[in-house]
Amino acid sequence: MKTINDFNFADKKAIIRVDFNVPLDDNFKVTDTTRIDAAKPTIDKILADGGSVILMSHLGRPKGVEEKYSLHHILKTTSDILGVPVQFAADCIGEEAKNAAANLKPGEVLLLENLRFHAEEEAGDVAFAKELASLGDIYVNDAFGTAHRAHASTTIIAQFFPIAKCFGLLLAKEIESLNKVLKNSQKPVTAVLGGSKVSSKITVIENILDKVDHMIIGGGMTFTFVKAQGGKVGNSICEDDKLELALEILRLAKEKGVQIHIPVDVVAADDFSNTANSQIVDVMAIPDGWEGLDAGPKSLENFKKVLLESKTILWNGPLGVFEMESFAKGTIALGEFIAEATENGAFSLVGGGDSVAAVKQFGFEDKVSYVSTGGGAMLEMLEGKVLPGIAAILD
Ligand code: AMP
Repeated sequence: MKTINDFNFADKKAIIRVDFNVPLDDNFKVTDTTRIDAAKPTIDKILADGGSVILMSHLGRPKGVEEKYSLHHILKTTSDILGVPVQFAADCIGEEAKNAAANLKPGEVLLLENLRFHAEEEAGDVAFAKELASLGDIYVNDAFGTAHRAHASTTIIAQFFPIAKCFGLLLAKEIESLNKVLKNSQKPVTAVLGGSKVSSKITVIENILDKVDHMIIGGGMTFTFVKAQGGKVGNSICEDDKLELALEILRLAKEKGVQIHIPVDVVAADDFSNTANSQIVDVMAIPDGWEGLDAGPKSLENFKKVLLESKTILWNGPLGVFEMESFAKGTIALGEFIAEATENGAFSLVGGGDSVAAVKQFGFEDKVSYVSTGGGAMLEMLEGKVLPGIAAILD
C-alpha cells in the first residue's frame, strides 16, 4: 500500500482528492472543520518536502453551477487551518485551472472549484478525469468519504498516474484501522451493531460473522430478532418481512461459533417522545401499546462483560434512540464500556454516520482508538466490498 510517505514531493505538484464537503451556515461560514483538519497532515508533508498542492473536492449536491455550493466559501478557513495562503481557481478544469496549476511554486496551495459543478465528475467521465490529471505530477487520494464512488476524481483519474499515485495519510489510516478489525485482528473480536433496521445492516452482519467472536445486536434491530424467536414486541420497530432472515442469522452464528448478544431488557415507552412514560420490561414481553427505545440495565451489564473481555471492538449504530435524552443512556453506557476496554488495551473502531454523531455528542471521540470519517464507505468496507477509489490506487 503506497502512501505519500513513499514519495518525495520536492518540485512536484501533488493533485489531492480531499473531502472538503463541510457544513456551512446561512452566512456560508464553515461550522465544522473536522474534514479540513483531517487533510492537513497530508498537505503539510507534501509542502514540507518542497512540493506544491492542488486540492480538489466536492461540496454538497449541486445541480450544475450553484453559487451556494462554491468552494470559494471555504477558502479563508482552509487557509487559516493550513497556515498558508490558498489560491483559488473558479473552475476545476479549463484555462484558469491550467494556468494556476502551472504557475504554482513549491510550498504553494491551489484549491479548485467544486468538482460537481461538472456532471462528468459523478459520471466518472474519462476525458474530464484526464483534464484534472493534467494539472498534477502525482495523484493522492485522501478522501475516504467518497472512496466507494467510481467518480472521475476519486477513481478514474488514477489511470493517468500508473506509478505516481498513492494514499494520503487519512485514507491510509482508515484502511489500516479497518484492517485491524477485519483482517489482522486480536481476539476476541466484538462487533456492536445498532441502529434502526436489520435490512440496512444485513450485508454487514453476514460479512462480519466470519470475522468476530461476539456480536452485540441492539437498537431497533433487536425487535426483529425478538419477534422471530416468539417474543412480543408491542409497538416497537420491527421488520416483519425479515423474521426468517433473523433466524437464519442466528443459525449461521451458531454454526460459525459466534456468540450473539441481544438485549434481555429494554426501556419501553408509551409514545415515541422524550417525555413519554417509560418502564423497564423484559425484551420478550413488551406490553401492547409500548415500544422499546433503549437497552435496559441487565442488557448493559451483559454487554459490559463482553466488551471488557474483548481485544478488538467495532461499533456501528446506536443502542437506542439517542437523539432523545430519555433513551440515550444505553448508547452512552456503551461508549463508556468501549472507552474502558480501550483504556485497558483493546483496539476500538467507531464508524457509520449515527454512531460517530453519538461518539462526538457524548465526548468519547478521544477515548476510542479510531473514529472513521466515512459513513457509506465504511459500511461498504464492512460489507466486504472492494472500494473503487482504493482499488484504483492499489492497481
Ligand atoms: P442507523 O442509521 O440504521 O444506524 O440507525 C440510527 C437510528 O436508529 C437513530 O436515529 C436511532 O434513533 C434509531 N434507533 C435506535 N434504536 C431504536 C429503537 N429502539 N427504535 C427506533 N429507532 C431506533
